[in-house]
Amino acid sequence: MTSTLPFAAEKTREVFWHFSTGLEIFWYCLAVASVLVFAYGVARPVSKYVRGRGGNVPPRSELPGRLRTGLRTIASHASIRMRDPYVGWAHRGIFYGFVTLFIGTVILAINTDVTERFFGWRFFKGDFYLGYSIVLDVLGLALVAGVIAMMVRRRLIRPRKLDYTRPDREPGDEQYDRRTYRIGDWTFVWILLVLGVTGYLLEGVRVAMDNPGYNEFSPLGWVAAQVWLGLGFGEGGLTVVRHSVWWFHALLAISFVAAIPFTKATHMLTSSASLVLKDPMAGKRLRGIPEEHAEEPAGYSTLRDFSPVHLLQLDACTKCGKCHEACPANATGRPLSPRDVVLELREQANVASRAMGVGGVLGTLMHSDDDGNGVLDVRVVGEDRVREETVWSCMQCNACVEACPVGIEQAPIINQMRRALVEEGEMPSNLQSTLQVIQKSGNSFGENKRRRGRWTRELDFEVTDARKEPVDVLWFVGDYASFDPRSQKVTQSLARLFHAAEVDFGILYEGERNAGNDVRRVGEEGLFEALAEENIETLGSCEFKRIVTSDPHSLNTLRNEYPELGGSWDVAHHTAFLLELIEAGKLDVAGRLDYKVTYHDPCYLGRHNGGYDAPRAILEALGCTLVEMPRNRDNSFCCGAGGGRIWIPDEPGQERPSENRIREAVDLGELDYFVVACPKDVTMYEDAIKTSGHAEQIELRELTELIEEAVGAPAPVGSAA
Ligand code: SF4
Ligand code: SF4
Repeated sequence: MTSTLPFAAEKTREVFWHFSTGLEIFWYCLAVASVLVFAYGVARPVSKYVRGRGGNVPPRSELPGRLRTGLRTIASHASIRMRDPYVGWAHRGIFYGFVTLFIGTVILAINTDVTERFFGWRFFKGDFYLGYSIVLDVLGLALVAGVIAMMVRRRLIRPRKLDYTRPDREPGDEQYDRRTYRIGDWTFVWILLVLGVTGYLLEGVRVAMDNPGYNEFSPLGWVAAQVWLGLGFGEGGLTVVRHSVWWFHALLAISFVAAIPFTKATHMLTSSASLVLKDPMAGKRLRGIPEEHAEEPAGYSTLRDFSPVHLLQLDACTKCGKCHEACPANATGRPLSPRDVVLELREQANVASRAMGVGGVLGTLMHSDDDGNGVLDVRVVGEDRVREETVWSCMQCNACVEACPVGIEQAPIINQMRRALVEEGEMPSNLQSTLQVIQKSGNSFGENKRRRGRWTRELDFEVTDARKEPVDVLWFVGDYASFDPRSQKVTQSLARLFHAAEVDFGILYEGERNAGNDVRRVGEEGLFEALAEENIETLGSCEFKRIVTSDPHSLNTLRNEYPELGGSWDVAHHTAFLLELIEAGKLDVAGRLDYKVTYHDPCYLGRHNGGYDAPRAILEALGCTLVEMPRNRDNSFCCGAGGGRIWIPDEPGQERPSENRIREAVDLGELDYFVVACPKDVTMYEDAIKTSGHAEQIELRELTELIEEAVGAPAPVGSAA
């Protein structure tokens, strides 16, 4: 078809093709209405966020760093492609396609509605237009391909993490399978697909009619044009098609814009904001109670207690299910899925948000709605809400926080709900009695504090009392390593290694208290602070260069949480310190053990403190062959002891996470040892090996024990040592 349009000669295209002035005005009215609905949709949740309380609003000084990290994560898609490269690629196509088409639309609007309308300057032509045309043509294809890939995944691959069935509800419960979420998800992807496809159909009919002569800059538009021409429409038919497709595409686009804040599409805004605002120490360093709220009830009892950032994060969830899949509580049949906690809280917050109405939204944003807080005064824990057993099932292992692609802080949110329950005295009875024991004795075993150093009596050398003499290394032993009979053997082994390596070390004897990491994680903030203050005072009165601890839980709180309470020291886990001794030649282990082993990453050493490499380097130095379990390093699987769960008995007949983990190790085939580096792991896995019926197949060794065996073993033939 030969073009008669002046635009064909100047390499551009007409936006309002054959529009009367009245039709253009009508279109602008619709577009303005769409933007107003969008603006209200954004204002409504914002007015909810600003009503929040709590304390994890990032300090201003941290904002530039968090902004940089957040933008880098968004641009690279690192958090989305982690453990799921298929979704990473598909989402990248959608993201970059959508952003490019959006920017393209804004550029076109600036040209049409600003520069050309008011100044008579049209920049949407010539080489600029050709570049614009090819970029949008290709990136639009990325959008369509990404959407189709996501549809294939949902329809054909059906990963378990996209099953929205709730583990905290029974079949038949109306909230059980969340059918409406699936409808919302499918509507969202279909709209994106139809927007992309109708964009090409519109381009195609324009190319078919105008035949502009530079079709290589609209390759997909040219293909669509061949389809239209092949269908045999005459000029009149194409004219009707061109108007029809334009209106269909344009109305769908402005409806989509208006609907963004009210649908799954809102994650484009909330997820980006959540990633930027996320605390990089989420779960590793729990926040204390801010001084300005010290007189108020602790924790999250109602939605109003939530911090603004946590309220925003509830809206950021995309229901991707990565946390649901990673959660050890969920994997072992407990009534907890971090995804469902977030979604349940979001549903509650949305009900409250809707109750505000337009007046409440505007009132809040204009600071004139003084008593509007009532809408968020809704209890978050209850039988038809987040259930108490859900809150207490959490191991505070941080697997959810690590896995979440949009930066949601599920573990700290659950911890805040625990704080509120603890304050109300609503907690499992065993937990309550353990906390009382810790308060009284300073340790979770209820032992007389004088017995803390008793394990030293079986050594044939004296262990220095670091409260009386300066030492290089202050060894913070921890409760389990001090009192548990099996772990005491590891502790003695470690002491002998320090002695053999001529380390100038000492311990606090009865001066040491439970470090408080797990006390804080069950939500007993007051007791945590009391324990930490006692330890800080004792440590502050000693002379030492660094702290080494056997317990990853103690490591976490000493390193990440004590500094905010005034105790700041160089703190290392014993695996890192032992590696230093081996590398310095103070412990000669070179290749002496020829074992085939697997290694379990403790949550508080690995995920919370990045201690993945030292244990592996030691195993390599020992000469062991390491066979990794499928869930390793940051995807490690909690033993079930974390977050105070070691003090709460499991329901009879329930699979324990430690048993699940042992089965994973046994599935690797014949192994000599299951190696651990945490005293709580020693307890949990010694037990699980027996209860899971695998005592014949696998044996537990603490890494320290292997090192001591190697030090005492003869050097391998041919070794320089
Ligand atoms: S912290 Fe661990 S146990 Fe708790 S919700 Fe997250 S993944 Fe599950
Ligand atoms: S909380 Fe995060 S990881 Fe979990 S489903 Fe939502 S977006 Fe995915």
